[in-house]
Amino acid sequence: VEKSSKRLTIAIQKSGRLSKESMKLLEACGYKFSLHEARLLAHSSNQPVDLLRVRDDDIPGLVMDGVVDIGIIGQNVLEEVRLERAATQVNNDFSALRSLDFGGCRLSLAVPKEDDYQGVQDLNGKRIATTYPYLLQDYLRRQGVNASTAILTGSVEVAPRAGLADAVCDLVSTGATLEANGLVEKEIIFTSTAQLIQRPEPLSAEKQAIVDQLLPRIDGVLMAKESKYIMLHAPKDRLEQVVALLPGAERPTVLPLSHTEEQVAVHVVSTEKLFWETMEELKAMGCSSILVLPIEKMLG
Ligand code: ATP
Ligand code: MG
Repeated sequence: VEKSSKRLTIAIQKSGRLSKESMKLLEACGYKFSLHEARLLAHSSNQPVDLLRVRDDDIPGLVMDGVVDIGIIGQNVLEEVRLERAATQVNNDFSALRSLDFGGCRLSLAVPKEDDYQGVQDLNGKRIATTYPYLLQDYLRRQGVNASTAILTGSVEVAPRAGLADAVCDLVSTGATLEANGLVEKEIIFTSTAQLIQRPEPLSAEKQAIVDQLLPRIDGVLMAKESKYIMLHAPKDRLEQVVALLPGAERPTVLPLSHTEEQVAVHVVSTEKLFWETMEELKAMGCSSILVLPIEKMLG
């Protein structure tokens, strides 16, 4: 494959729990892609950017080997691959660019609910089924526990009932899957969200320029999601009290209203959630027309 030094290659998961959010993030950053289901590679129609869509397991290695420039990957898979490559003396460098706000989950140890589990020491001499042998063994070593692993790439949660293992070390988000299989979560060994990572070798000037534009856009998207634009009419003589109630608000814009001297319009960007309770308090203070609006993008 001839690779351009001018087009940035981004690896994302083809289909799975990170795919939709990864695409959404890149689109929110202004990149347009037309995806063909069968194709691995997609070119952006408006930026010098190419998308490589692969199994998530392959993404850390592709970035560490410099086959792609940047990638979006769950921290759990990233750390597992990093430990595996470190243990086998394969290059495992990368640079962490941003921690993202999706793909949240935890890697946990769970045991059958009928077990009398007192603590992690109870796992001494036991067998634990997992897709993450390096993360698991790293944790067990730090706890001083000696247990063996049964490596399964799927259906880890059925291993105890099938007699393949005594416990499991698996990804959890709600715990429903564990419960459905008669397992109880006992220890959280790793918490994870999606990460944006870059290959270790420096990028060409053209590619670096694209990354330098992308990162502030990502920050803008993340910040916008947490922020709200609040508009309300407030009694002029209680303005300070009103502003003090608005969470994370800095420098409100205060505007006159056309039909009254007693009230002013207050516009403010709040970096936190505005709760119903606060809105009710504002109303009790004499505020009216209280609007909370989502923000799509933020810069500067
Ligand atoms: P692939 O076919 O790409 O290998 P996969 O089956 O290995 O996909 P998914 O199940 O799509 O992977 O999960 C991808 C990532 O999503 C996980 O590695 C993890 O970082 C994150 N994730 C978030 N919530 C969960 C969850 N409840 N269970 C599993 N993974 C989750
Ligand atoms: Mg996978």
